[in-house]
Amino acid sequence: MAGPQFTSTFTTPGEPAQHSLTYGRFHNPTWTAWEEALGVLEGGTTISYASGMAATMAVFGVTLKPGSVLVLPSDAYYSTRVVSSSWWKSIGVDVRMAPTRDNAQAGVLDGATLLWIETPSNPQLDVCDIRALVEAARARNVLTCVDNTTATPYLQQPLALGATFSMASDTKMLTGHSDVLLGHVSTTDPDRATALRTWRTQHGAIPGPMEVWLAHRSLATLPLRAQHQCSAALRLATTLQSTRGVSAVHYPGLPDHPAHATAKRQMSAFGCVVSFDLGTRQRAETFLKALTIVREATSFGGVHSSAERRARWGGDTISEGFIRFSVGCEPADDIIEDVIEALKRT
Ligand code: PLP
Repeated sequence: MAGPQFTSTFTTPGEPAQHSLTYGRFHNPTWTAWEEALGVLEGGTTISYASGMAATMAVFGVTLKPGSVLVLPSDAYYSTRVVSSSWWKSIGVDVRMAPTRDNAQAGVLDGATLLWIETPSNPQLDVCDIRALVEAARARNVLTCVDNTTATPYLQQPLALGATFSMASDTKMLTGHSDVLLGHVSTTDPDRATALRTWRTQHGAIPGPMEVWLAHRSLATLPLRAQHQCSAALRLATTLQSTRGVSAVHYPGLPDHPAHATAKRQMSAFGCVVSFDLGTRQRAETFLKALTIVREATSFGGVHSSAERRARWGGDTISEGFIRFSVGCEPADDIIEDVIEALKRT
């Protein structure tokens, strides 16, 4: 694998059209290598961005204009909802919301431009049926984008299920080391791929070569990390279900999750995030303080386990004691022991 190419400009005598590489906002060989690798996983042309939100804004930017109708999950990632109901609404985009659960978005598709799906949703880990929603959207001429952040294309492939776009924050499990912010969008439509690339060039939401090189290096261990994290997460979720004082354990891999059958059909494993409820803010804070190997931190998907009281940020309809837990690559026994011992202190 070549090293990162740090350059803002390339030697380009004479006519620019004679040169494949000209200026660092237009292209970079380190990006190209990463995008080709990710494109194989996604099954489509891939464009990398400076963050997950930059990738989200690119999809909105190439599909929405004043008068468009955007259908969002009402439990979508907080910043996706905020940017939609502030900026996009302010330029005349109509934003409709319905829950991820029970494919409720299918009921609000008439006249829509873009259906945004997020499954499993963050942080409540509800799951919808991608293929069913894509088919409902296609029948009404509605474009579809799946925010695939919690699953990554290793566990779930939205383009194969018919989505127009697969988008993710690569800040999470895809890169997995909590050392970069990145995002990407993939599509099988060549014209939409060109539009997404042009959006990046013109708006300047470009990734740094060092971040992209680190991400590419991390891709080789994605299967190893994901397999360990998913199996440890399932063990943790199962243990929590039978632990006194823990209510409402959310994990799509649990047989009694309301959409377990759908998750099993469209995912090869169920992700590294487990959410659960400790009832009160005080119990949740005491639990987080008592953890020894698990860090209190936001974000998820890294090799180090982390957890947070999600309601500290506001914006989600969750209880004050709701914990979002990200299972890392430590031995599963150690993670579970840390959690059980911390719960005893609450
Ligand atoms: N989508 C989901 C589901 C997320 O969880 C996040 C970040 O937490 C984003 C998008 C935004 O990604 P980023 O923080 O890389 O901009």
